[in-house]
Amino acid sequence: MNPSNADWHAKPAEALLSDFGLDIHRGLSETEAQRRLSEYGPNRLTARKGKNPLHLFLSQFNQALVYILLLSGGITAFLEEWVDSSVIFGVVLVNAVIGFIQEANALKAINALAQAFNISCNALRDGHRRQLSASELVPGDLVFLQSGDKVPADIRILRVRELQIDESIMTGESLPVEKHPGILPATTVLADRSNMAYSSTLVTYGSGIGMVVETGDRTEIGLINRMIAGATELETPLTRKISQFSRLLLWIIIACAVLTFAVGVWRGHSMLDMFMASVALAVGAIPEGLPAAITITLAIGVSRMAKRNAIIRKLPAVETLGSTTVICSDKTGTLTQNQMTVTAIHAGGDLFEISGNGYTPEGRFILRDKTIDPNTNPALLECLKAGLLCNDARLIADFDDWRIEGDPTEGALIVAAHKAGLHQLAVSTAQPRLDAIPFESQYQYMATLHHNLGRDARHVYLKGSLESLLRRCDNAFDQQLRPVALDKAQLLRQAEQLAARGLRVLAFARGDHQDNAVQHDEILGGLSFLGLQAMMDPPRPEAAASIAACYRAGIEVKMITGDHPITALSIARQLGMRHTERTVSGAELQTIAESEYPDLMEQCSVYARIGPEQKLLLVKALQTKGHVVAMTGDGVNDAPALRQANIGVSMGMGGTEVAKEAAAMILTDDNFATIEAAVEEGRGVFDNLVKFIVWTLPTNLGEGLVITTAVFADAALPITPVQILWINMTTAVLLGLMLAFEPKEPGLMDRQPRNPTQPILTKHLVFRICLVGGLLLASAFGLFAWELSHAESLAKARTVSVNVFVCCELFYLFNCRSLSHSMFKVGLFSNPWVIFGVLGMVMLQMLFTYWPPMQALFGSEAIGPDEWILIMAAGLTVYFTIGCEKWLMRRIK
Ligand code: ADP
Ligand code: MG
Repeated sequence: MNPSNADWHAKPAEALLSDFGLDIHRGLSETEAQRRLSEYGPNRLTARKGKNPLHLFLSQFNQALVYILLLSGGITAFLEEWVDSSVIFGVVLVNAVIGFIQEANALKAINALAQAFNISCNALRDGHRRQLSASELVPGDLVFLQSGDKVPADIRILRVRELQIDESIMTGESLPVEKHPGILPATTVLADRSNMAYSSTLVTYGSGIGMVVETGDRTEIGLINRMIAGATELETPLTRKISQFSRLLLWIIIACAVLTFAVGVWRGHSMLDMFMASVALAVGAIPEGLPAAITITLAIGVSRMAKRNAIIRKLPAVETLGSTTVICSDKTGTLTQNQMTVTAIHAGGDLFEISGNGYTPEGRFILRDKTIDPNTNPALLECLKAGLLCNDARLIADFDDWRIEGDPTEGALIVAAHKAGLHQLAVSTAQPRLDAIPFESQYQYMATLHHNLGRDARHVYLKGSLESLLRRCDNAFDQQLRPVALDKAQLLRQAEQLAARGLRVLAFARGDHQDNAVQHDEILGGLSFLGLQAMMDPPRPEAAASIAACYRAGIEVKMITGDHPITALSIARQLGMRHTERTVSGAELQTIAESEYPDLMEQCSVYARIGPEQKLLLVKALQTKGHVVAMTGDGVNDAPALRQANIGVSMGMGGTEVAKEAAAMILTDDNFATIEAAVEEGRGVFDNLVKFIVWTLPTNLGEGLVITTAVFADAALPITPVQILWINMTTAVLLGLMLAFEPKEPGLMDRQPRNPTQPILTKHLVFRICLVGGLLLASAFGLFAWELSHAESLAKARTVSVNVFVCCELFYLFNCRSLSHSMFKVGLFSNPWVIFGVLGMVMLQMLFTYWPPMQALFGSEAIGPDEWILIMAAGLTVYFTIGCEKWLMRRIK
C-alpha cells in the first residue's frame, strides 16, 4: 500500500481491492481493521488553525472608535505629553489584545463545539453492515454512502445508484456532481474525478459503495487543510447595529471635540490646554469595553446553550433565538420519543393487535380478542417479512437489554417480526438482498429487491406511506396469500382509524421482478398490497410543558411533518397544541395560492404530508408576516428551509450531515424542549447585552459632559485624559463584564418576544442613561468645584472626581443587574462575579488614590475620610434615584 496520495482514480478497481487485501463481500475483518487503525491512526483531521491570527489582531484596530484613540494618542505625542500619549497607546494595545484573545477564544470554542460531533458511517466488516464512528475507518474499509451523509474519508467509488455529491467545499463548484465507478486517466484533475468521493464533501442524492483509500490528514481535505465547519462569523445583528452606532458616535465625538476646542480657544485658553480637553472628551466618550463585552456575553451564551444540549454553529443564532416568534418542529423524534412499537397490523383483511413494550421482542398477536399463532396466517407473516426485509436497521441484544441500530421506525418492524419468530439473520439468508432504493422523503417509500432462494423467485418489497403505495398496487392478498381485488377506500378508512389512535402507519407491498436491480420507474405499478403496520410513538413527556411555556412566552408552535394528517393531529392534541381544529396537508397546500399561505398559517398549527420543498415556502410565508422563525429539519432536502429560517435547527442524533451543515443550531438530544431552552438562554443573553450597554453608556456621557462643562465654564479639567482611560478600562473589566455572568431573570419566558426591528435601547432606557449621565456630571463636577473652593489642590480635586465616577458606576452596577426588577428580586448574591469585581475595583481605587507610583502616573493624591463620605453619598444617590425610577416604571406598567 502506498501511504502518500496516489492516483487512486487511475487504478483499476480490481487492482485496488487486491492491493488493500479486500474481499468485496465481507469487507475487512475486525482484527485487520484494528491493526490498520494502529498503523494509520484514527481517521480524524488535525485541528485547523483558525482565522489568520495576525489578521484577527489587526482587525481589532479597524474600528471607528479606535481611530479616535489613535488620533488622540498622535495629538498628545505631538504635544510631547508623553504620559498621556503612552497611556492612550497602551490602552489601544491592551484593548486590541483583550479583543483578540476574546475573539480567538470564542471562535475556538464555537468551532470545537461544531466539530466535536462524531460523524457516523456505515461500513462492511466481517460480512456485516456496521455503524461506525468515522474516526474508526481505515484504508480498505468498504463504506456505504447515502444521501445526507458526509463523506467520511477519501473513497474510491465501486458501485452507485444515482450518486450525487456536493463538492463545493473542495472545488467551489456549487452544483452537485454525479459519481460513477470506472477508471480515469491519471491526469484528471480533482474536480473531474468522478470515481472518487472526497472526505468532508456531502452526498446530496442517491447512494453508493466505495473503498476507503485515504484517511485522516492524508485525505485531500487534510492535505489542503481547508476548514471543515464553514467559516464562523463573529458578526451578529447586534454587533452590526453597534458598529453603525459607533460610526455615528465617531462623528458626534469629532464634532463635539472640534466645538470644544474652538470655543475654548475663542475664550482665550491656550491651544495646548484645549487640545488636551478635546482629547479627554474624545477618549471619555468612547465605550472602549463594549466590543469585548459583547463577544464575551455571546460566548457565555454559547456555552450555556451547549450545557442544555443546543450546539450553536452560527453565532448570530444566539441573539436571534431570543426574538424567536415561531418554532416549526418535526413530529417524529422531536415532539415524540422516537421509541416505536408496532401495536397493530392489518393484513389479509384482518386487524391484529400486538402486545409488548419497547424493543423487547416479546408479545402476542391478538385477533378478535383471541391470541393466535402468527404462523397460521400467511398474510400476516408476509407483511411482517416485508417489514423485516425492507429494512436497514438492526436489532441488538445486549444481555437482556434490547436496542436497535438505525431508524427507530425500521427497528419497530424488526421487533414485530421477531415476535412472530421471524429472525433477521434467518430471513435475510433465505432471501438475500440484491438491490435497494433508500427512503427519501419526496418519494415516501423504500424498496428492496430480494432473491427468494427457496422458490428461485425475485421479489421487490416496498414500504412507505399508504398513499404512495396504493398508487403502485393493482391487487391485494387474502389470508392465504391469494390475490384478491384491492379496496382502496376501505384501506384508507382503516389507515385513518389507526392514525386517529395517534399511530404512525406504514404500508407494505410486494412485486415480482426479473433482473438483479431495481429502479424507481420499474415499480410505478403492478404490485400487490400486503398490509399495514401501525406503530405507537408516544409524545415526549417534556414536550407538552415546553409547548405551554412557548405559548406563555408569546411563541407560536407549528408541527410540520411528513406523517399522516390524522396521526399528526392526534399527537398535536395530546401535546396541547393550539389551533388544532384543522390540519393542512401537502396536497391541499398545492391547491392554495402561495400568497394565501401567510394568512392560512395564522389559523393552523398542524401541517402533514409536507414535502421538504413545501417547508421552504412555509418558512417564507411566516417571514412575510414579520415572524422570526426557528425551523427543524433532518433530511438532505430540508437544507434550503433550514438556511431560509432565521434559526435552522438540526438533529444531532437523527439528522443527516447535510442538514447539520445547513443549520445554525444542532440539538444533541433531538428534543423539542431543547429549542425552548435555547430560546430562554437567548433571551437571557440579550438581556445581559442590554444591561452592559445601559451600564456603560452613562459613564461616557458623564465624562463628555464634565469636560465640555469645564471648558464652557472656564474651569480646569475635573478629569484628565489618562484618568478617563483608567476609569473606562478598569470599570469595564471589573464591573461591567460581570453582567455577562448574570443568571437569567425570573419571568424571562413570561414576556413577549423582542421585536427585532425595535432599537436595542427603548426610550425609557435612553432616559435612564441620560439621567445617570446627568447625575455623574452633577456629582463629579460639583465635588470637584467644592474641593477647589475649599482651597484643596487640583490633583486632590481630580482624585475626588475620578472616585466619584468609579463609585457611582459601582453602585449603578447593582441597578443594572436587572433592567426592571430590583436587585433584591434577582438575589444579592446570585451572581458572585459581581461581588468579586466590586472587591477588586475597591482595591484598585485604593492603589490609584494612595500608592505613590500610581499617583505619579495618574496625577492623583491621597484624600481624607470626609471626601470619601461625599463620594459614597454620590454613589448612593445614583443607586436610590435609579431604584426609584425602576419602581415607578414598574408601577406605571
Ligand atoms: P416526520 O415528519 O414525522 O419525521 P417522516 O418524514 O419521518 O415524518 O415520515 C413521513 C412518512 O414517510 C411516514 O409516515 C412514512 O409513511 C414514511 N416513512 C418514514 N420513514 C420511512 C422509512 N424508513 N421507510 C419507508 N417509509 C418511511
Ligand atoms: Mg423524519
